Amino acid sequence: MSTQATKPRWTLMIHGGSGSMRRGMLSAAQEAGAETGLNAALDAGAAVLAAGGSAVEAVQAAVQVLEDDPHFNAGRGSVFTWEGGHTLDAAIMDGSGRAAGAVAASTTTRHPVALARAVMEKSRHVLLAGAGADAFARDQGLEQVDNVWFGTEERRQQLDWMKADATHGGFDVDMKYGTVGAVAMDAAGHVAAATSTGGLTGKRWGRVGDSPLIGAGTYADDRACAVSATGSGEFFIREGVAHEICARMRFTGETAKQAAEVVMADVKAMGGVGGVILAAPTGELDWCFTTPGMYRGKLSADGVRRVAIYEDVVD
Ligand code: ASP
Repeated sequence: MSTQATKPRWTLMIHGGSGSMRRGMLSAAQEAGAETGLNAALDAGAAVLAAGGSAVEAVQAAVQVLEDDPHFNAGRGSVFTWEGGHTLDAAIMDGSGRAAGAVAASTTTRHPVALARAVMEKSRHVLLAGAGADAFARDQGLEQVDNVWFGTEERRQQLDWMKADATHGGFDVDMKYGTVGAVAMDAAGHVAAATSTGGLTGKRWGRVGDSPLIGAGTYADDRACAVSATGSGEFFIREGVAHEICARMRFTGETAKQAAEVVMADVKAMGGVGGVILAAPTGELDWCFTTPGMYRGKLSADGVRRVAIYEDVVD
């Protein structure tokens, strides 16, 4: 259902990455593990919203749960770089005043989305990168961990497999678990978006994807909607996906879902795949993806709760 007949008091939607997962490919344990993580993230964000908290607080709370869950490619469980480490990207945006904060290639902060929020609220800047982002995190007193803490054996095997396959590179649609994100509308009618990722397995040369780039993988505007993306980041950057969806809504009058379908079709025509989640101040709450599956969930004040992985689920 794209548009709510009656606007709920608050809405929340999350994703845990898009990919080629089809029914029957994942074990029951894998499905259950992902669904447990998604439900926990929905609960964390919903607790904030039900208590009258802001959309910004809610998307951060939901994303932090997914960052701690090793099933997902963000925080702990992040993919390995070519060199065998982890460089983490995250962004957060407040649709009420279009304040935004982001980090690229941070290496020691347990919750990169918390660091993105600190950039938004405690610095004069929007995007900090690398050693400077790490230093800012320490200055802000954010929880620090050793870089190896982010790794898991499964992610190490994915790097080994990639290195063994000389033809392999770019966005891995076979990846079972990906980037995470959240969008929300709070009781005051404001929207917010957050995205967090380890990026692509085997990434090199300081590669940064769309997730921390405001307007590409993350955007929020009370005049349109909040968007968090997952997918082949290079194409999402070139399309300016998240901002393009908001711009279409403002200039054409399309709903978030309609705008996202046009934009994702354009990304596909360029050769990119992935998905977006959408929360508008109208109460519209929807997703759109061009991969066979996307880990996703939604919850709103009117009690609508849904967690899904495959494309054959009727939303
Ligand atoms: N969009 C992310 C990136 O390019 C990857 C993903 O969503 O899985 O870094």
